[in-house]
Amino acid sequence: MSSTTKKPKALARRPDLETLYCINEDGSHNTIHPADVKGRFQRIKKITWTLLIAAYMILPWVKVGGNPAILVDLPNRHFFLFGKIFNAADFWLFFFILSGVGLFLFFLSATFGRVWCGYGCPQTVFLEGVYRRVERLIEGGASARDRLAKMPWNGEKIRKRFSKLGIYLVISLILSHTFLSYFIPVDVLQKAVTSSPAAHPAAFTFILLFTAIIFGNFTWFREQLCLIVCPYGRLQSALYDPDTIVVGYDRKRGEPRGRYNQSGEHGDCIDCYRCVAVCPTGIDIRNGTQMECVGCANCIDACDVVMDKVKKPHGLIRYDSENGFEGKKTRILRPRTILYMAIMALWLGAFMYAVFGHSPFDAELVRLRTDSVFTIDNGRIRNQFRLQLTNKLGNATQFEIKALEPETAQFVLSAKSVLLKSLESRNIPIFVFLPEKEYKPGTDVRLLVQSKAGKKMVQGRFLGPRK
Ligand code: SF4
Ligand code: SF4
Repeated sequence: MSSTTKKPKALARRPDLETLYCINEDGSHNTIHPADVKGRFQRIKKITWTLLIAAYMILPWVKVGGNPAILVDLPNRHFFLFGKIFNAADFWLFFFILSGVGLFLFFLSATFGRVWCGYGCPQTVFLEGVYRRVERLIEGGASARDRLAKMPWNGEKIRKRFSKLGIYLVISLILSHTFLSYFIPVDVLQKAVTSSPAAHPAAFTFILLFTAIIFGNFTWFREQLCLIVCPYGRLQSALYDPDTIVVGYDRKRGEPRGRYNQSGEHGDCIDCYRCVAVCPTGIDIRNGTQMECVGCANCIDACDVVMDKVKKPHGLIRYDSENGFEGKKTRILRPRTILYMAIMALWLGAFMYAVFGHSPFDAELVRLRTDSVFTIDNGRIRNQFRLQLTNKLGNATQFEIKALEPETAQFVLSAKSVLLKSLESRNIPIFVFLPEKEYKPGTDVRLLVQSKAGKKMVQGRFLGPRK
C-alpha cells in the first residue's frame, strides 16, 4: 500500500441509546458545546433564573422583625425562619421541610417531568444562567468553542482560557461566600472576610473547599453531575406514567425523516440535527425519552425555529405526554397527582402552623434527680422540680411564674420573675410542699409562665407515699 494513502476520516460520533454521550469510550469526559438557541422557553428560563439567582444573593441580607429571614446558626444551635427563632429542640422542622421539598418534587415529576431540572435546579441555574454565558461571551459560539478546544495552546487560547477561568474563580468565590452567609450572619461574615484567615480557620477552610468544588463542577464536571451523580434523575422512570408531561418528539409526525425539499413522501423532520446540537447533555430526543434529558426545552425552541423556516407548524418536539403523542387525551388530574396534592395541602397546613404558631418561648417542668422522688417532713410531702425556660424571642424578655395547683400546696421558687436575653435558657429550682393528709395519687403540679409574647401552662406529677 502506498505510504501516501489517506486514512479514512473517522465518522463523527452520534448520540445513541447505549452510551452516555458526555463520556468517551476510554472513560474521559466528552466536552459538549451546546449551540445557542432562542425562543419562548429560553425567555421563560432566563426570567426564572434571574429571579432565583437574585433570591439566592439577597435572602441572607433580608431581615424580618430585626432577625435574619433565613439563617441556620449551627455553632449556636438555632436557626431563623421568616424572622422567627427556633432552637435545637425544633430541628425536627428541618426534616419536615426536607420531606415537603421531596413531596413537591415527586408531584412535579409525576405531573411535569423534569421541569425542576430545566428551570429550578441550582446546577442548571448557575451552569446555564451564569457560567455558560461567561463562556459564550469570551470564547464565542459553539463552533468557536469547539475550535478553541481543539487548537494547540497559543496566545489566543491562553488569553481566552485564563480570562474565562479567572472570572469563573471570582464567581465561585462569590457563590461560596453567599452560601456561607446562610450559616453565618452577614455582618459576622463581612468582618471575617476582612480579617486574617487564622482568626477563623474553619470558615476559611470551608470557603476554600466549597469554592474548589463549585469551580471544578461548573468548569469541568458540568452535565456529568446530572447524569452520573444526581439521584433525582434516576428516580424519573419510577415517577413517570403515560400522562406525565415530558419533552418529546412526535414520531408520528416526524417520521420517516427526509431532507428539506426531498421528493417523495416523508415526515416533517428534515434530519437537520439542530435539536441535537443545542442539547446540553448531547442526546438525540428523537430516540425517545431518555434518562439524560434534563427537560431544558432547548430542542423545542431549536426545532420550532427550523419548522418556521420550512413553513411547518411548531411542536414537532414539544411538551406532551406519552398519551398525547399517541393522539390520546392527557389527564393532568389523576388519582396519583390528586393524592400528591392532598398530602401537600396537609403538609402546608402543618408547616404554617409549626412556623407561625411557633411558641415564643420553651417552658418545661422537670423532676429533679435526687435519691428519693419525695421526702416527708413534719407531715408535709416535698417534691423537687426544675423549670427549664428558654427565650426564643429576638430580644430580652421578662417572664413571670405563677403557681396554680395544688391550691393548698406551698411553692418555693428561687425566682418568680426572670429576665432572659434572646435565646438564653435558665433552670429555676422549685420546691413543692403538700400536707400529707391532702395528698391523693394522681395529683398534678401546675404553673403558669407568662411574658408579653404569650403564656404557657406547664405541669408535672406530684408523687407521695402509696395509699
Ligand atoms: S430540529 Fe426538528 S427537524 Fe431538525 S432534526 Fe431535530 S426534530 Fe428534526
Ligand atoms: S433532549 Fe431537549 S429537553 Fe432534553 S436535555 Fe436535550 S435539549 Fe434539553
